[in-house]
Amino acid sequence: MKINLIMKTFFVETWGCQMNQHDTELIEGQLRQHGLAPAQEANQADLVVLNTCSVRDKPVQKIISRIGALAKSNPSTIIGVCGCVAEQEAGALLDRSRTVGFVIGPGQTARIRDAVQAVSQGERPVFTGFDAEAEYNYHTIFRKSTTRGMVTVIEGCNEFCTFCIVPYTRGREVSRPVEHVLTEVRALAAEGVKEVELLGQTINAYRCPETGADLAVLLEKVALIEGLLRIRFITSHPRHFNQPLIDVLAHHPNIFRYLHLPIQSGSNSMLTKMHRKYTREEYLDLVNRIRAAAPEINLSTDIIVGFPGETDDDFEQTMDILETVRFGQVFAFGFSPRPKTPAARYTPIIDNEIISERLQRLFALTSRISRELNETLVGSTVQVLIDGVSRLNDDHWQGRGEDNRVANFPKLGREEIGDVVSVEIGRAGPHSLVGEIVGGATRLPVVE
Ligand code: SAM
Ligand code: SF4
Repeated sequence: MKINLIMKTFFVETWGCQMNQHDTELIEGQLRQHGLAPAQEANQADLVVLNTCSVRDKPVQKIISRIGALAKSNPSTIIGVCGCVAEQEAGALLDRSRTVGFVIGPGQTARIRDAVQAVSQGERPVFTGFDAEAEYNYHTIFRKSTTRGMVTVIEGCNEFCTFCIVPYTRGREVSRPVEHVLTEVRALAAEGVKEVELLGQTINAYRCPETGADLAVLLEKVALIEGLLRIRFITSHPRHFNQPLIDVLAHHPNIFRYLHLPIQSGSNSMLTKMHRKYTREEYLDLVNRIRAAAPEINLSTDIIVGFPGETDDDFEQTMDILETVRFGQVFAFGFSPRPKTPAARYTPIIDNEIISERLQRLFALTSRISRELNETLVGSTVQVLIDGVSRLNDDHWQGRGEDNRVANFPKLGREEIGDVVSVEIGRAGPHSLVGEIVGGATRLPVVE
């Protein structure tokens, strides 16, 4: 079948982190401005964009098989590969299928219209690499949510943890000027968005290129913008979490009572091999200082299990730190060797069976702790921002409390998405709370 070079409709599939979800908003906005219309499903679209993640090998394999499946089921459809796999594999992706029309790395997302134009003229462009002067135009972002808006404050990462591919696929750190971020956030507040999520792979390494201001300064300015109910920021690196940032968090109740603070391992020898540049003692001291300043903060973390050389004792130290800190949520992954990274060559490699056993023990522990923490909320009333309809029951809403905990509760019919409701918690599981609305909904005014 002939490939259709004139694209009128598109569909985007997204893998990976919040940065990728936000890049999808940028991709979608540009395609709409270029005159393409969104299709309901991939098999109805002239162009399918795969916005990919390469942080572990499994998602990369899924994307490679997705290209094969799409090329087989929709042989006339153009596939565009964006995101970290595009940066990693570059031109080699064109050999996967003749229907792959373009490849665009995360540093070149703003060029998707050029790519579509080139494809319609019979070319197969590959745009990778990073350009510090790249234009950032938030007017091209298509935001799906009317309650929550994501805003990039820093791109890339300079940390070079020995296991991680991100500095290679997303390039070096580039911070946006404070005033640019504030202009975008004010525009969102004026549109009625109640929750803003500031994004960066290492967000607290932020430095304003014009004034040198750090994240504490930026966050405080954002917190003072009228009309914003909640401000999140993700992801914080423990070594950049300074005292001014803790103080800002403590003094501004509209900054989310939730922090994602990846520790990766509880063993100092693993942390050194990972090049994380903090010790377990320094991490624990940081947690103590955060909790002393804001005791209600809900903490979550990332753990890598089976990093090369991880002994039983190293793993027990990770279990121990999980017992000590008691995180509300833990994202744990088996180590996956990544191209170009030093740890891909480290030995001894840990057996997959041992990794699975350790992960199972870890999940049993973290799910018990999350349940216990959630159970302490039974009987209390939580302020929940309604995000949408519950995935399990059309008659229920789903939303998040001020500490990011998910709550499900029956609709009463008077409230709508974007309202804040008081929910009395009746039951708790490891992943969510269940309750009922008490009192009325608060519809927050839009600030002009
Ligand atoms: N910037 C964040 C930080 O400082 O931790 C993390 C970003 S990374 C995209 C998300 C998580 O993926 C990491 O925290 C780590 O736990 C996990 N990860 C990264 N590389 C990995 C690898 N090679 N194998 C397994 N998990 C990995
Ligand atoms: Fe990867 Fe480390 Fe950078 Fe996080 S801080 S993105 S884990 S290199």
